[in-house]
This record gives sequence, C-alpha cells and structure tokens, in this order.
Amino acid sequence: MAEPTDTFDDFLPEALRFCAAAPLVDIGANLTHESFTRDLAAVLGRARAARVTTLILTGTDREHAEQAVAMARQYTEAGLALYATAGVHPHDASRWDAGLATAMADLHRQPEVVAVGECGLDFNRNFSSPAEQERAFEAQLGLAASCGKPLFIHERDAGQRMREMLHAWRDDIGDAVVHCFTAERDTLFGYLDLDLHIGLTGWLCDERRGHHLRELVGEIPLDRLMVETDCPYLLPRNLPAKLKGRRHEPALLPWIVREIAHWRGIGEEALANATSDTARAFFRLPANPQSIHQEN
Ligand SMILES: [Zn+2]
Repeated sequence: MAEPTDTFDDFLPEALRFCAAAPLVDIGANLTHESFTRDLAAVLGRARAARVTTLILTGTDREHAEQAVAMARQYTEAGLALYATAGVHPHDASRWDAGLATAMADLHRQPEVVAVGECGLDFNRNFSSPAEQERAFEAQLGLAASCGKPLFIHERDAGQRMREMLHAWRDDIGDAVVHCFTAERDTLFGYLDLDLHIGLTGWLCDERRGHHLRELVGEIPLDRLMVETDCPYLLPRNLPAKLKGRRHEPALLPWIVREIAHWRGIGEEALANATSDTARAFFRLPANPQSIHQEN
C-alpha cells in the first residue's frame, strides 16, 4: 500500500487508515443502508483518502435503487465516481409484479445505472419462496437481455439452479458477475465455464467459514475478478484494530485486496490495477465520470 495523500478524519483508528496501492473500484457498496445516513459525506471522504475512487452502489429494491441513482447524481466531486445498480434482491422476490418490472426498466435507462441487480437466488434463507425467487430472477434476466447492461447477481446455496438458469439465458444476456462469491470449487468452475465474472469480499478473511476461498482465489483469471466490501455487511474479521460500531465501509477495501493478493501470491498494486481494469470494462465506466450526468 502507498502513503495516504488525502486526509482521514478520526473515525477510523490509525491502524485502519489504509491506502490502496492503485485506485480501487468497490463493486458492491450498500451506501443507501440506513447506517450510512448520518455520516455519508465522511464515509465518502474516507473512501477517497483510501484511494477507493469508484463505488458501485447496490440497488436491492426500487426504493434503494432510486436512492442510489440520486446519490450518484448528488456526489460528483473530483476524485470519486459513484454509480448505481437497480434490481430486486431474492429476499424481496415475492413483491415482484408488472409495476415493479416497469419501474426497473425505467431505472435501467438511467445513465447512472450500470448494472441490472442485485438479483438472483438465495436458498439459504428463503425469505421469498424458491418459486418466487426464480420468477423474479427470470424476469430480471429478461430485463438485462433487453437493456444490454451487465448483471449483478446474488447467489447463496443455489449454485446448481443458478447455473441452470444462466445456462439457458447465456446467449441472450451480456456480462454477469456473481457478487460476494462464497461457494466451493465446483460452483466456481461452473461459473467460469459460463464466462461469468466473480466478486470477492472480505469473506476470505473469516477464519470460521472463508478459508476454502484462499485456495480458490488463484483459480480466478484476473480479467474475471473484481473486489467489493458489500458494506455495511461483512466487516473483515481479521482487521488489525477494532472498529467502533462494527460497520464495514469502502475505505476498508484495501485490506481485502491485501488479503486476496497475499493468498494469490501477487503484488497488491498488480491486483488493484487488474481488478479496477476488469471493473471498468465490465460496467463500461466512462473515462470522464461527469459525462454521464450531462446526458440527462
Ligand atoms: Zn448479495
């Protein structure tokens, strides 16, 4: 990691004031989560100080996707670029209907929206029934096929069904990333065979359940690999200092990159550059982030 060039406020303890070796793209930041309402500007300032310069704000339902688009429009200061995704999370799949489909299609036309999702299948908790999840996901695969934007996919304990559905849609959809990948080797290779991208979080920092990922990180080609915090969730468990409130935030992404680089046996700067290049190509981010807002 390099020396910080920007300044941190005192919220993060000294030991957590990281600075990425090259500018990073956090492809999964839930900054519309209520825990960020109070101090969003400071969170963004710390991200910039850590050289996490591009944030893809996850839109998990209509309300949060609209908030994410508004945030991307509002915060356009130099040195930080915000974009949004728009989808309906599998937990909320039971709410899918024609009105929601129309609202999502409208959102996908916004230039700030760079992916369809978060959508997918979560058979771990089944907050919506598997049938409802498949129906909502199928509909969003159709929306991605028609708008041409990449997919931001959530999958937990549903790897087999996910692969079947994506296989059926593969020729119609474009790029797709399985965010917060936590599954086993066979699922990973199944996804790579489908030409999918893989998003890695701080899950592999978790000594209770993430160690299997450490052997797998080297199997993901660099042009398929992207990094994310999934904040405020999934605070890395092996951070070198305790964090007040235990809320994860984008400024901590360099720690995750350091961990992945270590387990992959590659330099931090090379990994940072590769994952950012992959993210910029995947989400088709403009060279000049300001330009998209002027299209409105
Ligand atoms: Zn997710």
